[in-house]
Amino acid sequence: LERDALFRKTHNIHVSGSKIPSPLHNFAELRSRYSCRSYLLRNLAELGFKEPTPIQRQAIPVLLSGRECFACAPTGSGKTFAFVCPILMKLKNASKDGFRAVILCPTRELAAQTARECKKLIKGKKFYIKLMTKQLAKGADFSKFPCDILISTPFRLQYAITKRKLDLSKVEFLVLDESDKLFELGLVEQVDAVVKACSNPSILRSLFSATLPDTVEELARTIMHDAVRVIIGRKNS
Ligand code: ADP
Ligand code: MG
Repeated sequence: LERDALFRKTHNIHVSGSKIPSPLHNFAELRSRYSCRSYLLRNLAELGFKEPTPIQRQAIPVLLSGRECFACAPTGSGKTFAFVCPILMKLKNASKDGFRAVILCPTRELAAQTARECKKLIKGKKFYIKLMTKQLAKGADFSKFPCDILISTPFRLQYAITKRKLDLSKVEFLVLDESDKLFELGLVEQVDAVVKACSNPSILRSLFSATLPDTVEELARTIMHDAVRVIIGRKNS
């Protein structure tokens, strides 16, 4: 649509791929277009999120329409909410039926920060959001572990998969956050192990990054097949 193209241009949103959904004009469209629950809109308002950021305007509709997303936007541009919002909306309610979503973050600090951000967004709503700490990785009984969203570094998650029989075969959403850093830190093997363990054939994968080095492009090609690419601003690497 001409109107979508103009709107994207205004917000410096570059897209490629087939059948790309319209960008969000405002957060109210989360309700009118996608029946977003009140708790989430209320929490957004409480956090002072008035307008979606450019990456949120496009990545949220892409993921909500069930498409894989390869997204690149600068640090500080709101990438976390761009993937947490559609995951919360798609999961709908808490469930005790195994691990449902996994967010991989390159460092423990980033994982903890992402978990804190998720918890702010679910205020007033029951969801099992778990940060994979060292204690959990070593001691939890993962066969009785309600978990809607698991947030972990690749290292701890690979440990739990191989040494503690953590079963990720039901995971419906996998996010590789800060993908460029995953490579800088040499975590490719651990990431591969997690991608393999998330063996549900209908999994929706997405990859978020602040820069686009060849390593990240290559990973996107390897793990995604019909992804919508969303790039904010100029390609900076
Ligand atoms: P990135 O992952 O792109 O570096 P973050 O997701 O960590 O960025 O977001 C950076 C900051 O912006 C966070 O403090 C977050 O709460 C805030 N933020 C995210 N989305 C919005 C929004 N739509 N309006 C205002 N602030 C936002
Ligand atoms: Mg981030």
